[in-house]
Amino acid sequence: MDSRPISAEIDRLREPITGFLQDLVRIPSLPGEEQAAQRFFADKLRAIGCEVQILTSQFAELEHHPAFSDDGVSFAERLNVIGQWTGTDKTGRSLILNGHMDVVPIGNPELWRFAPWSGTVADGKLHGRGSCDMKAGLAAAVCAMEALRNLHYKPLGTVLLESVIGEESGGVGTLTTLVRGIRADAAVLMEPTQLRACPVHAGALSFRVEIVGRAIHASMKRFGVSAVDKFQQIFAAVQALDRARHLSYKNQIFEFEDNIAPISVGTVAAGDWLSTVPETLVAEGRFGVFPGETTAAARAALATCLAQVSENDPWLKDHPPSLTWIEGQFEPGQTSLAEPIVVALREAHAQVFGTQPRVRGVPYGSDLRLFTEHGRFPAVLYGPGDVAFAHTVEEHVELEEVFACAKVLAMLIVAWCGGSYTR
Ligand SMILES: [Zn+2]
Repeated sequence: MDSRPISAEIDRLREPITGFLQDLVRIPSLPGEEQAAQRFFADKLRAIGCEVQILTSQFAELEHHPAFSDDGVSFAERLNVIGQWTGTDKTGRSLILNGHMDVVPIGNPELWRFAPWSGTVADGKLHGRGSCDMKAGLAAAVCAMEALRNLHYKPLGTVLLESVIGEESGGVGTLTTLVRGIRADAAVLMEPTQLRACPVHAGALSFRVEIVGRAIHASMKRFGVSAVDKFQQIFAAVQALDRARHLSYKNQIFEFEDNIAPISVGTVAAGDWLSTVPETLVAEGRFGVFPGETTAAARAALATCLAQVSENDPWLKDHPPSLTWIEGQFEPGQTSLAEPIVVALREAHAQVFGTQPRVRGVPYGSDLRLFTEHGRFPAVLYGPGDVAFAHTVEEHVELEEVFACAKVLAMLIVAWCGGSYTR
C-alpha cells in the first residue's frame, strides 16, 4: 500500500497533535486522579469520530480475579475510556491500541528543569510528567486515527483505542476491559520502547523476609546471635540465586542478559538499639519472574534458596527465616515473535523507516501480560520515548518519534484491519 498519503496527512497534523499532547501533560493524572484527563481524552475521541464508552473499574468485579492486585487506590471513580471505530465487516481482524493515563508522582518539583506539568516544547522535545510514560503513545494513536479519518478510511475490522487507569500500580484498568469482555485479535500497547517491537516482558513479585537472632548487650556479642550476620548469609545466597537464574535462562531478545528478571533487596531494617546485638531484621525486595516462568515457580525458587541456607546453619535450622509475599504481583507476559501481529508491526515500521525495528524483551512489567495471559490474545509493546526517562525529573519525549509512531500505527491499522478509502 502507498504510505505517502498517510505520511503527508500526519505531517500536516504535527502542530495540533503537539498541542493535544501538551494539553494532556498539563492535566495531572496521578493514580486515582485521572478523571479530568480521561474526560478530556474522551472528548477528543468523539471529535475524531469514535463511539466512546466509559468503563468504571469496580472492586467487586475484580477482587477475585487471579491477576488482580489491590493498589490501595480508591475505587470511587476510576474511569477507563474506550474509543471504537466499528469495522464494516465482522470477518475483518480487530485491533486494540492501549495506553495508560495514570502517571507516577513528580518527586521534588525543584529538581525539574522544565516544570513537570508544563508540557514545555524545547529542541524538538516535549517535557513533563507523563510525556513519555505514556501520554505520547496515546497521542500517537489518536493522531493515527485522526489522519486515517481525514483520508476517509473505513476499517473492515474494528479498531479500539483504550485509555486506561491503574497501569503503574498493577493494571486495574486493562483488567477491567478484559473482565467486561472487550477483546480483539491483537493489541499494541504504546509504552515507551523507542519504537522497538517488544512482545516479551519479565514479571516481578514483592517479598518480605524476617530473620530472628538473639539480643544481648553488644559487649557480650559472642553469646548472642546477630540477625544482621544471619542476613548476610541469606543475602549472599540470594545474589547467587539471581546469577544462577540468569545463567540458566535461554535469552534470545533481551539486551542485557544479566538483567532480565533481577532480584533486588530494596529495604532492610534491623535492631532497635545501637549497642544491642540485633534480634530482628526485616528485608523487602523485588523478585523478578522470567518470561515463561510461573509466579508459583518463582516463589518456590526463593523458598528453596532460603531453606538451603537454613539447612547449613545451626541457628537458622532452628530459627528459619520467614518468607511472605506481599502486594504487587506482576506476571511476565509474552507473545511469540512469529505471531502475525508482530510481523505486521515490523512491516508497518519498515514501510515508514525502510528497515525493520529491533525486537526486544523488556525487564519491566506492563499491561501486556493481561492481554497475553488472561485475555489470551497476542500483544506487543511499541511506542515513542525512552523508558530510561520515565519516572525521572527529566521525563520527555522526542516529537519526531511521536509522529513516526503515528505513521507506523496508521499503516498497521490499514494492514491489519483491512478496509478502504471511501468518500
Ligand atoms: Zn507506562
